Amino acid sequence: MGKIYQVYGQDAHVMTKKLLEASDAIKLVPQDGSIALKPNLVVAGTPDSGATTHAGVLSGAIEYFRDNGVTDISVIEGSWVGDDTMRAMHRAGYDMVCSKYDVPFFDLKKDRTRNIETAIGPVPVCCRALDAGLLVNLPVLKGHCQTVMTCALKNLKGCLPDGEKRRFHSLGLTRPIAALGAALKPRLTIVDSLCGDLDFEEGGKPVQTNRMYLGMDAVQLDAYGCSLMGLPLKRVPYVELAEKYGGGKASFSERDVVSLNEPSDAAPYPKPSGIVANLTKRVKQDRACSACFAALVRALYVSDTERSREICIGQGWRGKSFNGLGIGNCCIGAKEYVPGCPPAASAIVEALDS
Ligand code: SF4
Repeated sequence: MGKIYQVYGQDAHVMTKKLLEASDAIKLVPQDGSIALKPNLVVAGTPDSGATTHAGVLSGAIEYFRDNGVTDISVIEGSWVGDDTMRAMHRAGYDMVCSKYDVPFFDLKKDRTRNIETAIGPVPVCCRALDAGLLVNLPVLKGHCQTVMTCALKNLKGCLPDGEKRRFHSLGLTRPIAALGAALKPRLTIVDSLCGDLDFEEGGKPVQTNRMYLGMDAVQLDAYGCSLMGLPLKRVPYVELAEKYGGGKASFSERDVVSLNEPSDAAPYPKPSGIVANLTKRVKQDRACSACFAALVRALYVSDTERSREICIGQGWRGKSFNGLGIGNCCIGAKEYVPGCPPAASAIVEALDS
């Protein structure tokens, strides 16, 4: 089973470099091979809205690969049907990164395509994605209005021409996403989970999570993403289907996850607003780490159990005894608590629904 490297913090540039260094990702680049960085620029939205990959992920990856001798680096992406990739690229701040490092950006909507064989038959894919020595998949972990969750596998849809994106929707997304992921099988994925949206790929309801993670199996990373969002795999069926199609392993164990630092190294959760404030209005928070609080937010969002129990979370509860449900190892003194530092949202959902 592949390793998942994860790091907590707020600086995407620094976090990306730490992940790449810890995983020794340079060994994945073929001799004299090129790198194509494939972020998520689904719409012209800023990364802090929870829709798009932070520009610091690009700059961190460019610096890491340059420092390790790779000279042929580009950024590739095609926004969704109806949006302009270059407008999205400017909005997300990629123009500044590309100009600072003198790295070209290619709009895949203008690229040539070649058919590849997949479990649903031939699929046309943009040549710049197919011909890269190493395709580096840079998705955002976030909610999606149709597939519930979107991350490593679904981000690859941006490598298709617009006509094929439309056809994927007409086929219901699940089978095509699984088939494309299994056929492309990206060997390196870095997930931006700094503030992905709660339930919509266009952003607008970001949840501050302050986490990033890296792995070499996109299917495994999506299984991990589901657990971080409190979603059982059956809610996101393309993940297990991608395993059936040969794309990777739709499972992980705690032993697979290598944490490079502690969640408390990231800033505490900022004052919640909007839907997050509404979801957590009865929660007693005292200095909760962002990753911990975000796991609770996502769990409260997917659990439909009526709640009367008191819920407490944060480092301020250390060493205290109290009734109700405690979230995380800091709340070991609670009558009932969910272990973990931070616990996965799926474990919190189980406790809420028990
Ligand atoms: S259990 Fe405590 S230290 Fe660990 S993530 Fe939660 S609040 Fe932070």
